[in-house]
Amino acid sequence: MSQLRAFLVPFLMVTSIMAALVTGVHYAVNASVIKSTKQEAAQKARQWIVYFSNNIPNIENLIETGDPSVKQMELIQNAVAFGDVFRFKLFRPDGTIATISDEMQFRAEKGSAWSKINKKAIAVFKTGVANISVNDGTKKPDRPDLYVEAYVRAFAPDGKVIGVLEIYVDQTASASIIKINFSKLEVLLPLLCAIAYLIPSLLYVRRNEQARQAEVAVRKLSEFDTLTGVFNRRAFSLRLEEAFDLREEFSSGIGVIFIDVDDFKIINDENGHAGGDAFLRHVAHKISHNIRESDIVGRFGGDEFVIGLPDIDHHELIAIARRVLAEVSLPLDHDGRTISGGLSLGVYLSCGKQTTDAALRAADLALYHAKETGKGSMVEYFEGMERAMIERRVLEKKLRHALKESLFELNYQPLTDPDTKQILGFEALLRLPDDGDNYVGPDVFVPVAEEIGLINEIGAWTLNEAIATACEWPEPLFISINLSAKQFETGDLVDTIRNALSSSRFRAQRLELEVTESLLISDSAMVEEQINQLKSMGISIAMDDFGTGYSSLGYLWKYGFDKLKIDRSFLEGFNVDATRQKDIIETIVMLGHKMGMKVTAEGVENSEQHSILTELKCDQLQGFLFGRPMSASDAALAIKNCNEANKKAMEEKQPDSEVA
Ligand code: C2E
Ligand code: CA
Ligand code: CA
Repeated sequence: MSQLRAFLVPFLMVTSIMAALVTGVHYAVNASVIKSTKQEAAQKARQWIVYFSNNIPNIENLIETGDPSVKQMELIQNAVAFGDVFRFKLFRPDGTIATISDEMQFRAEKGSAWSKINKKAIAVFKTGVANISVNDGTKKPDRPDLYVEAYVRAFAPDGKVIGVLEIYVDQTASASIIKINFSKLEVLLPLLCAIAYLIPSLLYVRRNEQARQAEVAVRKLSEFDTLTGVFNRRAFSLRLEEAFDLREEFSSGIGVIFIDVDDFKIINDENGHAGGDAFLRHVAHKISHNIRESDIVGRFGGDEFVIGLPDIDHHELIAIARRVLAEVSLPLDHDGRTISGGLSLGVYLSCGKQTTDAALRAADLALYHAKETGKGSMVEYFEGMERAMIERRVLEKKLRHALKESLFELNYQPLTDPDTKQILGFEALLRLPDDGDNYVGPDVFVPVAEEIGLINEIGAWTLNEAIATACEWPEPLFISINLSAKQFETGDLVDTIRNALSSSRFRAQRLELEVTESLLISDSAMVEEQINQLKSMGISIAMDDFGTGYSSLGYLWKYGFDKLKIDRSFLEGFNVDATRQKDIIETIVMLGHKMGMKVTAEGVENSEQHSILTELKCDQLQGFLFGRPMSASDAALAIKNCNEANKKAMEEKQPDSEVA
């Protein structure tokens, strides 16, 4: 369309200029023909005058009388045949006619008509300026098709001006020659002009077209990412901006998905840059094939992509994000090798009035969160995410600082015998001191320490510290320490524990380690190996929080745990349906015992729970009823008090038995 226009406009311009040119030349040629005819006629007239003056004897007399002699008449006939002159009139200085070449005989009959005064003749006589007019004779029977009437002065042979001659010159033949010459020009001139104009015009059109094509190419280069073919950052932002400008016309919101390739550096290192490029193209391809036609994709540099989804509801937005996540993680065949990789996604649905930048920031923030949550995950922005991120930064800083300065603390919560209420051991619970007397709970900071890779160091500190404290306790009190699944990943856990035990000379049999089902999900040989090594050292392994995860019997069989800790959420259920809850706990206790495990119930807060759990044959109880998590010194005191209380009870029992 634009190509047609690029040709049509100059074409029309050239055509109209040509038409104007032809018309102009036509008029100019006509004017030139008339002018040339006049000039030629004037020249002929002057030549004729010379001939006439020199050949007609006694012209003065002829003017005066108007009566040509026989001789004069004969000569006049000859003169009329000279050149192209076919007629003449001779005027006296007063403008009256002296003679007319073809009417000389009729003079007497015409009478007074001859005495009429011709003003043109008088003017020419006086001024000497010839008066020449071109006449069309086509409609006059006795005239040639084109003739000129020229009034010029008549001279006597001595050069004296004696009257005026009106000479009729037949210019039909010479005018047509002139016209033919000019007509050639009439054709040639516009043609030359046209050629002179057309060539640059065509060149101009061609150059314009080339410029247009170059512009299209440049625009492509400036709008699209050359590697993946999706929009570049600038072009994407402009289009997203346009979508935000139109948002009032949408029935739903505008979705923004920020995407980052997980471990792109590793993909590049393992597959070379060509492999990395292929994977980026694969990502762009998968994204493009899983979005709607109205959606836009941009590459924001390196391995970052963004999708803009105008007029989309929450359900569809999440569905598209999930599809992209799933499809990109499908392996890619490149040059005979398989490249695998995944994405992290930050999803945001912008509703109501909001700037493009704010929406992009929200999706970016969600992506950041996704990256921290773990690879291959998708996180949706939530209100207050920014605050949460800031708080997290602060917490990360606190953790690093606490580790460096040994600021962590351990609390110890007793595990009690249900019947005797005797303390059997303690669970070590980690504390991060906060401002003032406050603490940040391990539920909050342990996952963060895991994510930022500090849990191994913190775990090692906990092991050493807890074992050192437990060394002070009387036999056979045990210490139970929580382990994070991450601590099994480095492979040095067993050595760390062995060193902690040997340096404190603490018996392995008095050490219990608590693990959760999350550790076992991977079902890795490495985890199994480490658990077996720990068990072979005599350490007891407890399955913590039983009932909250998969509660898989398979894991219980496979790893041969020594203890099962029923999660405290089971005790909370007592308030709702005590009978049902009792049945569940009873089943778990029976199951544990059948598998050779001791069973502990966590979260015992009141005596009612205590008596039920005692009745259900739990081996150990833990909860606020028997003691909150306490400092090492309080734990030592609790042990002392407990021992004394037991001693007293024994003593009180003793007399009874004596009586018995
Ligand atoms: P957990 O292993 O289940 O520890 C028991 C949690 O229950 C403790 O919370 C304890 O204070 C709380 N608790 C004990 N008795 C009661 C009760 O009667 N009522 C109620 N409502 N709560 C009770 P805490 O100390 O906040 O620890 C939370 C979690 O943090 C622990 O759950 C454990 O998973 C983790 N954790 C604590 N210390 C460590 C550690 O040194 N390393 C690792 N990896 N995780 C730890
Ligand atoms: Ca625990
Ligand atoms: Ca627990």
